[in-house]
Amino acid sequence: MLIFERMITDFHTHCYPDALAPKAMRGVDDVTEGDADGTYAGLIRAMREAGVGRAVLLPVCARPGHERSVNAFAENLGSDVIVPFCSVHPHSDDAARLIREYADKGAKGVKFHPNLQNFDVRDPLLSPVWRAVRDAGIVAVFHCGKPGRRPTPLDAYPSDYLPLLGIIPPERVVLAHTGGYGITDEEIDVLASAGAYTDLSLAGQFTKERLRRALSRLRPDRILFGSDSPWRDIGKTADLVRSAVPDENMLDLIMNGNAERLLGVSRAPER
Ligand SMILES: [Zn+2]
Repeated sequence: MLIFERMITDFHTHCYPDALAPKAMRGVDDVTEGDADGTYAGLIRAMREAGVGRAVLLPVCARPGHERSVNAFAENLGSDVIVPFCSVHPHSDDAARLIREYADKGAKGVKFHPNLQNFDVRDPLLSPVWRAVRDAGIVAVFHCGKPGRRPTPLDAYPSDYLPLLGIIPPERVVLAHTGGYGITDEEIDVLASAGAYTDLSLAGQFTKERLRRALSRLRPDRILFGSDSPWRDIGKTADLVRSAVPDENMLDLIMNGNAERLLGVSRAPER
């Protein structure tokens, strides 16, 4: 095992309360290849093994009105090592107020998942929720693409997010999973020009050659390393990214620099 000297931030991780982790690991994904067990201890272990010093934790509140327990669990894990985002269900009656509340309590961001939360990113009735995110000034991470191998009507790729990016500034938005599992080259171009960030979780969906091509089209200051642990292996994802990014400066941005700027934990100026 190698310990890398450069700080690494994994911008896309999950963990669950110990009692729920086994069920969560069985349930969500039909393409799981990770080797963590879904617990907090498992996440920390996986981070250490991969030489990752900081992780953004992305809870998902799957049912309207059930925000409290999901967010209390994540919030309690906050540390120098774990940056917990909050989760608000867009269909909760008080979604906008909850976003303000969690931002006031210090959440640096909020995670949304169209498939797991059963909402359509194209739904104009959700504009007040996106305005609340904009006004709170926090980061919004959106799951992109199919939830597993099978497509669903709620799947959203970068072009589906363009109206939303007219409300929340793209420089506060992460369209996860390199724009989504199953993304086309056309959608990668939309992602490249949209100005939003993306994370490289599920990068294993690409061949090394296609990943290299995708990365050469995206803005270097908009790419974040992410693994989707426990669903994917952090170290394997990091190795794939390293092998696809020969330029050391770009690799530094991807593995940590962009994340620090977006999270506001460094003094690097916003470009
Ligand atoms: Zn995820």
